[in-house]
Amino acid sequence: MQGEATRICRVCGEEKPLDEFRIRGDSGRRRTECKNCLSKYLKKYRSNNKQRISDLNRRWRNEHKDELSEYQLNWQRNNREKCRAYNKKSIQNMTEERKAKANLRSKKYCEARKDDFNYIKKGELGVVNRPSVGARK
Ligand SMILES: [Zn+2]
Repeated sequence: MQGEATRICRVCGEEKPLDEFRIRGDSGRRRTECKNCLSKYLKKYRSNNKQRISDLNRRWRNEHKDELSEYQLNWQRNNREKCRAYNKKSIQNMTEERKAKANLRSKKYCEARKDDFNYIKKGELGVVNRPSVGARK
C-alpha cells in the first residue's frame, strides 16, 4: 500500500499514524506492530529470555573475541599517539577519532545484538501474531 497515513497494529488492533510504527533496519519497511506493542513485547521477551539473551551475547563475544581484540590492538598500535592525545583531551571536544570510536562502539553493540533480533525476526514474534480479524475497514 502506498501513501497510507495510518496503519492498524496487528497486536493491539488500533489504527495509528505511520510514525508509530518503527522502520525495520533490515528491510527498510515499517513494522506491523506499533511502537507501544513492540516495546511491550521486547520487554517481556527480554525478561523471559534473560538467560538466553545473555548467553547469545556471551557466545557472540566469544566467537568474535579474537577479531575484536585484534582490531582494537591494531588500532591502538597504529594510533598510539592519537590514543594518548585522545585520552588527554577526550571530553574537551568531539574529535574525528572520538566520533569514529563512538561509531565503532555502537556498531559493535548492534552486532552483538544481531542474534537477538534475528531470533525475534525468525518467528518468535509469532507469539503475538494474531490474525487481524475485522481490523480492516
Ligand atoms: Zn499496537
